[in-house]
Amino acid sequence: DVKLRLLDIEGLNIPDQAPDHVYSVKIVVRSCFSSMAIGELIGSLQNNPYFGAGFGLVGLTAALAAGRKAAIVAWSGIRRYAFVTCEVNSKGLKMFFVIVFADSEKFEPDKSYQWILEWITRQSYRTQHVSMCTEFYEDEAGRISTRFAYIPSPGIHFFRYRGSIFRCERVREQMDALAGRPYEVVTLTTLGRDKSIFSFIFDEARTIALAEAANKTATYVPFGHEWRVFGQARSKRPIDSVILDDGVAETLVSDVERFLSSAEWYHKRGIPYRRGYLLHGPPGSGKSSFIFALAGHLNYSICVLNLSDPSLTDDRLLHLVNTAPKDSLVLLEDIDCSVRPRTDDGHPERWEGLSRVTYSGLLNTLDGVVGSDARILMMTTNHLELLDDTITRPGRVDVKVLIDDASDRQLKRAFLRFFPTSSESDGDEFVRHVRRTYPRPISMARIQGHFLLHRDDPKAALKQPIQ
Ligand code: ADP
Repeated sequence: DVKLRLLDIEGLNIPDQAPDHVYSVKIVVRSCFSSMAIGELIGSLQNNPYFGAGFGLVGLTAALAAGRKAAIVAWSGIRRYAFVTCEVNSKGLKMFFVIVFADSEKFEPDKSYQWILEWITRQSYRTQHVSMCTEFYEDEAGRISTRFAYIPSPGIHFFRYRGSIFRCERVREQMDALAGRPYEVVTLTTLGRDKSIFSFIFDEARTIALAEAANKTATYVPFGHEWRVFGQARSKRPIDSVILDDGVAETLVSDVERFLSSAEWYHKRGIPYRRGYLLHGPPGSGKSSFIFALAGHLNYSICVLNLSDPSLTDDRLLHLVNTAPKDSLVLLEDIDCSVRPRTDDGHPERWEGLSRVTYSGLLNTLDGVVGSDARILMMTTNHLELLDDTITRPGRVDVKVLIDDASDRQLKRAFLRFFPTSSESDGDEFVRHVRRTYPRPISMARIQGHFLLHRDDPKAALKQPIQ
């Protein structure tokens, strides 16, 4: 606020009889393009003896502020009309891209962000500033290897794509408490007005990512009330690398495939489109490995729920089973954990175990699977005797299969697969060797350990006792 003597302002109606009145005037300079009246007012202020002294300084400051404002306005105008920008955040794509990909069944916000990061890495391979992430591989024999991969670090990167220069800014913001990781934003900017360039980018990023995922099986684990991808996707395990007794794998695979091709049959009859499989048998016989290989064979991912997890409750179990991602097998491991020992009069005893899931909670979950998409529940247990008949009712467990310790045929097939240059008679010799040196039932896991011990020497595998 300045106190000034008002002499003359064009447009203001000052009564003649009051030229000496003192007015309080608030001058707000809104932009450098403000009306001429302000210019004239300033001119008259210059001549004012009370104001003239400080005017130079005030005028300079005002001019600078107006200039800065003009620059901002001009820059935002240029940005609006000369550049196109697309923002992708770790929760999903902003703007119209959500619509572009709405038809894609494989579209998921978290994934699209990862895809675009990987795509940018390919484009900005000359960039100096990278973050490192570790990729993890496990082959069918359990051998683990890792590879380091680079992704652009937070900051600004430039790259060229389809003849245009792109500026990419990756910003890591505050922690996303719900997701348990930092919230991130990537902004891509390029010169021009054609937004469709981003469709090309996202299509390409998705195609590359899906092609790479085609040979992988993703594993999901529960995180709060949602499913979260666990680590890097693992290479698919060939189904014939899990050696089950004759015909078992083939029967299971054809049953699952038949189920998946019968959507209409189920919908017409109003039957919930779900199927439950129970694989039971001693530990180390290949139950989990087979389910993992089956997921790969079907191009499915796998959602693992361990019923002995103390944070799992009946409600959460039901919710998670019903919200598992599309095209995934839900694996309920060790379902016997939900069984509480009972007293003689049939009441559950005080439970000392870790699991909080009750047997009736498990049955409710099996009954409560809803939705029109195929839902396949794979259950495993080492103690079938703990489960009563209520669970094997059709609709809960439709297929029950024993996956037992190694039979003679399994031993021979496993030997010939691991040592492909060996002869049939070596295979027979191996069976005799195992039965002679290990006269108890033996798991396939133990056999695998023996092979790994003598991986370069089949003769030693035929001679050395099984540990
Ligand atoms: P389970 O789930 O029955 O306890 P896993 O599937 O976890 O057994 O097997 C443990 C290990 O033993 C895995 O590394 C797997 O490769 C190996 N294995 C077990 N059974 C078989 C099998 N039938 N064929 C090939 N490998 C097997």
